[in-house]
Amino acid sequence: MVLCLVTYWGRMFFITAGYHRYFSHRTYRTSRAFQFVLAFGGATAAQKGPLWWAGHHRIHHRYTDTAEDPHTPLKGFWWSHVGWILSKDTKDQPASTMKDFAAFPEIRFISKHDWIAPWTLAIACFVIGGLPGLLIGFFLSTVLLWHSTFMINSLAHVFGSRRFDTEDTSRNNPVLAVLTMGEGWHNNHHRQAHVARQGLKWWEIDLTWYVLVALEKLHIIWGVRRPRPDGQIVDDHDIDLTDPATVDERTTTPA
Ligand SMILES: [Zn+2]
Ligand SMILES: [Zn+2]
Repeated sequence: MVLCLVTYWGRMFFITAGYHRYFSHRTYRTSRAFQFVLAFGGATAAQKGPLWWAGHHRIHHRYTDTAEDPHTPLKGFWWSHVGWILSKDTKDQPASTMKDFAAFPEIRFISKHDWIAPWTLAIACFVIGGLPGLLIGFFLSTVLLWHSTFMINSLAHVFGSRRFDTEDTSRNNPVLAVLTMGEGWHNNHHRQAHVARQGLKWWEIDLTWYVLVALEKLHIIWGVRRPRPDGQIVDDHDIDLTDPATVDERTTTPA
């Protein structure tokens, strides 16, 4: 049971801080070594490799709730929840959306052999906890993790409130925010996808953000993009995520 909690929350962090806020949106910078840790840690969640995950997620932001969106709930709940992942249309790595990270051979390796990381974790769980360790610490935890992550694609575009009148159906949902370490503030996120912080008010719990602040203090990550202190929103509509120069130029916040 303890193992299950550790593998759930630990891997959730790698998905939200790694696959999502780093590989998909480049909301902060880090060393090549920690980038590798984020990629491998994310891959243990058995949601395919970082290039596949972040590549599809970038398409989701570019074409939210249109026919090009890989998981819009406009095609129905099951499609947005799991159907799109199982579909053969999305089986392959989307071409050209991840040129920046595909330049790293180790990231390409983890993405190509995306079974290595989950198997490593499964074996570790078995060694630590025997058969119950494998079943609860790995399999149960993985299934729970899948559904929490998928709920952002399905429910966070259906249930919740909308602070910003974005052109998509994204919503803020406190229950999802707790389950996913801050990803439930999905309407905030769609409004400013280039900032690392998703809970904007003090009561909008964003566990991932608190950990990122700690990692920044330890100098493990840097260049963290924050919402502007004056509350003004920087539009990221036309930002080309594959080109870090344009992101930096458009989102630089005054000191
Ligand atoms: Zn979304
Ligand atoms: Zn996103």
